Amino acid sequence: MTWRVPLVDIDYGDAEAQAVLDVLANRWLTMGDVTMDFESQFAETVGAEYALATSNATAALHLACLSLGIGAGDEVIVPSLSFVATASAVLYTGASVRFADILGLDELTISPIDIEKQITPHTKAIIVMHYGGYPCRMPEIMDIADRHKLSVIEDAAHAPGASLNGKSLGIWGDVGCFSFFSNKNLAIGEGGMLVTDREDIAEQVKLLRSHAMTSLTWDRHQGHAYTYDVVDLGYNDRIDEIRSSLGLVQLKKLSANNARRKRIAEKYFQAFSGSALGLPFRKKHKNLHAETEINPSYHIFPVLLPEGMDRAAFMESLHASGVQTSIHYPPIHHFTYYRRMYPTTVLPESEEAARREVTLPLFPTMSDDQVSLVVETVLSAL
Ligand SMILES: *Cc1c(COP(=O)(O)O)cnc(C)c1O
Repeated sequence: MTWRVPLVDIDYGDAEAQAVLDVLANRWLTMGDVTMDFESQFAETVGAEYALATSNATAALHLACLSLGIGAGDEVIVPSLSFVATASAVLYTGASVRFADILGLDELTISPIDIEKQITPHTKAIIVMHYGGYPCRMPEIMDIADRHKLSVIEDAAHAPGASLNGKSLGIWGDVGCFSFFSNKNLAIGEGGMLVTDREDIAEQVKLLRSHAMTSLTWDRHQGHAYTYDVVDLGYNDRIDEIRSSLGLVQLKKLSANNARRKRIAEKYFQAFSGSALGLPFRKKHKNLHAETEINPSYHIFPVLLPEGMDRAAFMESLHASGVQTSIHYPPIHHFTYYRRMYPTTVLPESEEAARREVTLPLFPTMSDDQVSLVVETVLSAL
């Protein structure tokens, strides 16, 4: 199937190709100085003390949980309207999750009120997910975390380059995790980044992402070490120089690409404002909350179909016109595995959003004609 408008496309050109060729010419493929450069430039971009690249964001989330001491007997509060990795990263550690509902159909991020309701004596942490690159209610969530002495992990997979009140998403909590999967705002195929201001977390993550070895192959290559000890049960969650080199090029494009995403989202908001579609985040997008200044990364464009409309037929009609759509997300607690573990979970707002949501194409290289085609096709399908 060749789409007239795919859901996403990458912004790749000669610079990415050259970056890979440079790595090949330098003859060092695994984690080394290109990765360190990517990490320090990413840290600077988000304003974090430490940034550590990983093989993907799922690994980063897992390492975040481990570094906060989360394990068997602990509970972590997570959203269900997210990608499954937000919850599975917790389960890997032997801890369990408690799902919290979203704020509502206008704002598809985790509800601070419901977070507080899910707290038990076993609660150790909260994972928030900045849906679509729109900020969660971080001031309220950090206040809850402070009062109950809980750690906060931000699943910022959608949110590179986004901020709330001038502070980047990913650095509000104890740890932030970004994804560089091929459909994300900063795309390198597979990759992730963990950011933190806490030295103890950074040290722990550095160890655990590389088998808990006390020296790296890179250090030994540099002549800094001859052998190593293993001081914990570690993992191999490392990135490599090829993908870090792609990350450096993509990082340079991030701010212009997010700005282009914003212009497309504004066109959509305008085109659909009088229609029957529900437009999550439209109010926040217009900064109706005077005291908050939000700068989303416009990772995806979600719309909500009118109550009772046949979603499959709607998506099929767009498909017939060559427009690809998707769903963000089937709620995690409805998946077979999670239903078995958490059969009594009920989340009315997440379930309704998940039932009615359709994601429209949004990517920085999308042409104005493609945007118009999506608008026309959607309006006629309604
Ligand atoms: C993509 C994504 C992840 C996982 O990222 P990977 O890099 O593919 O492991 C986690 N959470 C959310 C919300 C995502 O969109």
